[in-house]
Amino acid sequence: MPRYLFAPEPVAALPIAGTDALYPVRRIFCVGRNYAAHAAEMGNEVDREAPFYFTKSPQGLAPSGATLPYPPGTADLHHEVELVVALGRAAFRVALADAIGAVWGYGVGLDMTRRDLQGAAKDKRRPWDIGKDFEGSAVIGALREHEGRVLPGDAAIRLQVGGQPRQAAVLGDMVWSVPEIIAHLSTLYHLGPGDLIMTGTPAGVGAVVAGDRLAGSVDGLEPVALTIGAPD
Ligand code: MN
Repeated sequence: MPRYLFAPEPVAALPIAGTDALYPVRRIFCVGRNYAAHAAEMGNEVDREAPFYFTKSPQGLAPSGATLPYPPGTADLHHEVELVVALGRAAFRVALADAIGAVWGYGVGLDMTRRDLQGAAKDKRRPWDIGKDFEGSAVIGALREHEGRVLPGDAAIRLQVGGQPRQAAVLGDMVWSVPEIIAHLSTLYHLGPGDLIMTGTPAGVGAVVAGDRLAGSVDGLEPVALTIGAPD
């Protein structure tokens, strides 16, 4: 064992439905503008040449059911409900027809976003990191094994805040399918077990405030829940 100067953080991990085993998380990739109606509500056009990405740190993960303080530095915290793909096999320059073989399972996640900071970064042509990658910015529910399988295109993806519907679509609305995303991302990275891909959010994103209770779902998967606490 190496002798560390201080105790390292534990490995970030997600629960798995039906077992006490954990899925250890290596990296979190996120797809931008993957639902046309969401791109439109943000004043953007969908780039149909190729998907684009940003990343979140595994240290930004929070478990479903958490109460997280309203984060610092923002007055416009937004919800984005997303299908999360969990990889279980290596994929590098993988052919489209083989890409689905890298999938271990799926979950439901919240890509929490400091929208005002993201917007200011976009305006100044600066990176999105502080708008997207912060403590508690990736809230992901228990994963479910669906090895090598595509989810049905008519599966609904939804988000409610305080029981009121905010976001609703079907997975078939995604501009880039899960195999297309994996195949493309594998031209840029040596993908492998522990890599998560948050696949973008449908229309209806909006602000949340302290006291709000968020509930995200995708048909057939474990739901995700988050309560926004007071700022600390
Ligand atoms: Mn997103």
